Amino acid sequence: MAKGLFPVEKLQSLETPFYYYDTELLRKTLRTINDEAHKHEGFVVHYAVKANANPKILRIIREAGLGADCVSGGEIEASIKAGFPHEKIVYAGVGKSDWEINLGLDNDIFCFNVESIPELEVINELAAAKGKVARVAFRLNPNVGAHTHANITTGLAENKFGIAMQDMLTVITEAERLPNVRCVGLHFHIGSQILDMGDFEALCNRVNELQDELERHRIRVEHINVGGGLGVDYGHPNRVPIPDFKAYFDTYARKLKLRNGQTLHFELGRAVVAQCGSLITRTLYIKEGALKKFAIVDAGFTDLIRPALYQAYHKIENITSEEAPEAYDVVGPICESTDVFAKQIDINRTKRGDLLAIRSAGAYGEIMASQYNCRKLPSGYMSDEL
Ligand SMILES: *Cc1c(COP(=O)(O)O)cnc(C)c1O
Repeated sequence: MAKGLFPVEKLQSLETPFYYYDTELLRKTLRTINDEAHKHEGFVVHYAVKANANPKILRIIREAGLGADCVSGGEIEASIKAGFPHEKIVYAGVGKSDWEINLGLDNDIFCFNVESIPELEVINELAAAKGKVARVAFRLNPNVGAHTHANITTGLAENKFGIAMQDMLTVITEAERLPNVRCVGLHFHIGSQILDMGDFEALCNRVNELQDELERHRIRVEHINVGGGLGVDYGHPNRVPIPDFKAYFDTYARKLKLRNGQTLHFELGRAVVAQCGSLITRTLYIKEGALKKFAIVDAGFTDLIRPALYQAYHKIENITSEEAPEAYDVVGPICESTDVFAKQIDINRTKRGDLLAIRSAGAYGEIMASQYNCRKLPSGYMSDEL
């Protein structure tokens, strides 16, 4: 029963809506990641900070030894503040501004994942001004589809991300010409919420082909970075609280041919933090419509935007009622028709004041909160601090 997972009495006294993080589950997830990744030589795991940058979450992840994968200067700052060592910070992003590049240079980060030649030239120029040599990896668009929502595929030729594969040799040659950058790796990321290992296999095959081509030109990079994207079971947060990291890392170990001395880097976001977080909200009103019943709650898409943005499913549980289930549309208070968490789902009969847990909300939840409608940002509470 899910209710046992929540310290309901303590949660009752907090102002809703808020995020609740099960730090025990987070630590267990991180142990599993380390155990499964370290079975394979040369595997290095980073955490994609954009999934959740709550300082306490970041600190727990840093303590587990993961690196930080950042997509903005703000994330680099958050990572440094959380104690991530500079040599474990990587920085990707299709539009890096000068101050962000300078921040990365000043902090001697491990690597810039570069997405175009103009960007490479700017990094070279800014590094020259500081008398530094920036380590760069090229983000290549592998034109590999992923069986996931169209808004979260990133590795197709039509997407804005990365450099086209056929330009790989040109950009590497260009980097050799520029004195203040050094190409150390290749970077890929095909999308998010991927559960079909065949998609990662397709990426491995593509990386192998590209490495063969580099070999023909006597080029060898130090590392390959395959991004993140491993999905979680949104339907069964209780039954499958920890994603299948074994299958994930084993797929790469089996299919991706690392060259001598190469390291293989991963950037996992969702799979690390999604299941440990729940958005806790209170039922405000039950409205009996002509056709159905609405449970109107005090959280809205300003607190968790995934259902509105990607039609994402999140399991919802009433953690304060044992009454027989009834069907509801669970909706928020925002003045937008998309402010709906779920339609016609069965939850234990709810009344004003009940606490509902919107599950699997640890990734792309709190971090995407907004103040639309002049709402307050939700707080985040850790289970071991209540
Ligand atoms: C978003 C992102 C990730 C993490 O993706 P998840 O699906 O959360 O694992 C990793 N790398 C890059 C470059 C990203 O943009």
